[in-house]
Amino acid sequence: MRYNLYMERANLLGFGIDKYTLDEAAEAAEKSCGQVVTINPEMIDYALKNPEFADLINQAEFVIPDGIGVQLGLRIKGYKIRRIPGIEFAKRMLIETKGLPAAFVGAKPDVAQKAVNNLLKEIPELNAVYIHDGYFSDTDLILKEISSANPRIVLAALGSPKQEEFIFMLKKLLPEALLIGVGGSFDVWAGEVERAPEIYQKLGLEWLYRTVKEPARFKRIFPALPLFVLRVLRS
Ligand code: UDP
Repeated sequence: MRYNLYMERANLLGFGIDKYTLDEAAEAAEKSCGQVVTINPEMIDYALKNPEFADLINQAEFVIPDGIGVQLGLRIKGYKIRRIPGIEFAKRMLIETKGLPAAFVGAKPDVAQKAVNNLLKEIPELNAVYIHDGYFSDTDLILKEISSANPRIVLAALGSPKQEEFIFMLKKLLPEALLIGVGGSFDVWAGEVERAPEIYQKLGLEWLYRTVKEPARFKRIFPALPLFVLRVLRS
């Protein structure tokens, strides 16, 4: 259920995007349940080619503008909305729901556990009732295990579109939980990957830092951003 059903969403290439600030989003999500999509240009690109995925995004209870690309696209369309980095939103929600059961699924073996261990240093009340890596073959089993743990909040770090599809299935089993797709956040919390220095974050250039550090990402991300901006300009 969406907390504020009447808050009109911004429209970017046919996708509804919430206009919340981080504080408003956290307040709304704390009182709500359902799927949180932290949307970026790559996901929009994929959704434009895959109607089923587009449908899934449009059914999400929260669609949060994750990166600078989406913020820029929204600006072009006349919306002054600040991006909300998914990793910050997810941590904020763990703080807001601390003490309540939380599930973590995703990343390479041991990374999720390491991420939880580090999060516990900051949020000692964190109540992790389920932790599993993201390299499983029996999806139904994992879905069943998570729903039996009955968490209030689930963080899925499986990369996109896998995590969104996984959460969409899980939503039916856990209608009262808040389910967030968090991409590479477990790697950052575990200390496996460092987040870009603050100056890059402030300038909205985290993607640049990450592509320089991880050249394999360059091929994936770099063409997506200018193409996305062009597409928005043309729309
Ligand atoms: N991952 C996973 N299972 C998979 C594929 C990926 O758990 O089958 C994890 C991967 O280990 C990483 C995260 O998903 O922790 C995706 O990270 P990436 O940086 O690619 O995501 P982004 O933040 O770009 O969406």
